[in-house]
Amino acid sequence: MKIEQFPEFIRSDLIPAPTGDLVYSCLGCGNRFGIESLHYVCPKCQAVLLIEDAASVRLKNRSAESWRQIFDYRKMLSIPALKGIYRYHEFIGPVIPLDSIVYLGEGHTPLVEANHTLQASVGLRFYFKNDGQNPSASFKDRGMASAFSYLKYMLDSGQLSEVLAICASTGDTSAAAALYAAYLQNNIKSAVLLPHKKVTPQQLSQPLGSGARVFEIPGVFDDCMKVVEKLSDHYRVALLNSKNAWRILGQESYAYEIAQDLEYDLKQRVVVVPIGNAGNITAVMRGFIKFFDAGIIDTLPKIVGVQSAHANPVCRYYREPDPAKRQFTPVTVKSSVAQAAMIGNPVSMPRVIKLVEQYNRRADRTHAFFVEVAEQEIMDWELRANRNGHIACTHGGECLAGLAQARQSGLVAEYETAIVDSTAHALKFGGFQDMYFQDSFPEEFQVTPRPELVNTPILVKPSGLERMPEPGKPLSGDAFQKFVDQVAQEIAAILDLTER
Ligand SMILES: *Cc1c(COP(=O)(O)O)cnc(C)c1O
Ligand SMILES: [Zn+2]
Repeated sequence: MKIEQFPEFIRSDLIPAPTGDLVYSCLGCGNRFGIESLHYVCPKCQAVLLIEDAASVRLKNRSAESWRQIFDYRKMLSIPALKGIYRYHEFIGPVIPLDSIVYLGEGHTPLVEANHTLQASVGLRFYFKNDGQNPSASFKDRGMASAFSYLKYMLDSGQLSEVLAICASTGDTSAAAALYAAYLQNNIKSAVLLPHKKVTPQQLSQPLGSGARVFEIPGVFDDCMKVVEKLSDHYRVALLNSKNAWRILGQESYAYEIAQDLEYDLKQRVVVVPIGNAGNITAVMRGFIKFFDAGIIDTLPKIVGVQSAHANPVCRYYREPDPAKRQFTPVTVKSSVAQAAMIGNPVSMPRVIKLVEQYNRRADRTHAFFVEVAEQEIMDWELRANRNGHIACTHGGECLAGLAQARQSGLVAEYETAIVDSTAHALKFGGFQDMYFQDSFPEEFQVTPRPELVNTPILVKPSGLERMPEPGKPLSGDAFQKFVDQVAQEIAAILDLTER
């Protein structure tokens, strides 16, 4: 819709001009730093940062109704820069001019309600939010759209002349970073570090296809992360891990979309997310807090963070009920099908601790919870979900397993409605489904297939046939007729079809 076709009262607010006063804010010493230079940690105390809007009071001067109208009307605009996460420009990156925004189709992923069968087995109403329907097939695109829009803004405004974007990854961060870097081309190159054999073949193919320099490193993600930190401390590179606070900012869009898609009514809603490096859960809590503080939503949804028992540092931390006694200890991870979350020392842990405090304070009760699930449950719930029409990845399965457990323990009630994050597309993690179906999981995963969930292809090759078609060697005449008849007969017998 063209701008002059919108009602007059909304026109001047639809296309945002750069505003706001973004600063890096240190979670350690509380100091603030300008965004004209790239910072990943506090220059004073090395703690992690978040980006704050020092002029955010202005966001409260607009009524909730007016904000909702802006976001709702923006859906009808045909301006690419406002089609993705920057529909919420004032909250995502108000200083970024629209012509610096990179849009590759990220955000606004669908909420798909589970069917009755699946809802009945979990014990409450719930939706999957399919973040695997982002361009590189995971939620990481949300954060990359933000981080790369900022880098493009710095290049466009002459504050940077070239960028080497670098990241460590459990697979999806590198796929997303390489994709956005490839799109921007000029002056932006990318290099990614992956733990050798700890990303799926699909994930490995992504940065290779996008033309990034790909390095495979022995060890696990935590080892890669240390190397990347060393590189970003000593060389002029742009770190694209979620340590980069711009990533968090973009991923807040996940919360804004849930708010908008549920008509801004979040009473008795539960948002379930998996935790790896803990950037995502940070962003989700922060997004809801920002909308709450601006008055756009009047209730904070319950948050349930889920981890596998094989990579559970955050759950361990919150297992201690007395906040004064909690102590963070990194864990040594074991193999996990939720491989993108196989992280023992989450970079965003200080952010989580801070945000959970802020979240609970605003909700006036404990409103962020942590649930640990077994590898077996992750696989079983992923497969069950997909047998009921979803496209959940193993992390989606992890979230659903967490929700089922939270429902059973009474953490979540039957009258609540949950939004379950499938953070990537099922296809990226098809190898784990293969292992389940072929009962070939290595011992350390501790997964035993349930026969009712196993599915394998049936090779139809009737024994009575002398000749079979082959690529480049088709059959013809009687031989072909015989082949079609016998194959059809065999399938009809297996499916127990009745003749008509
Ligand atoms: C990165 C990732 C996670 C973990 O998110 P964090 O922000 O690191 O906690 C979960 N699932 C998928 C598919 C991911 O790519
Ligand atoms: Zn500091």
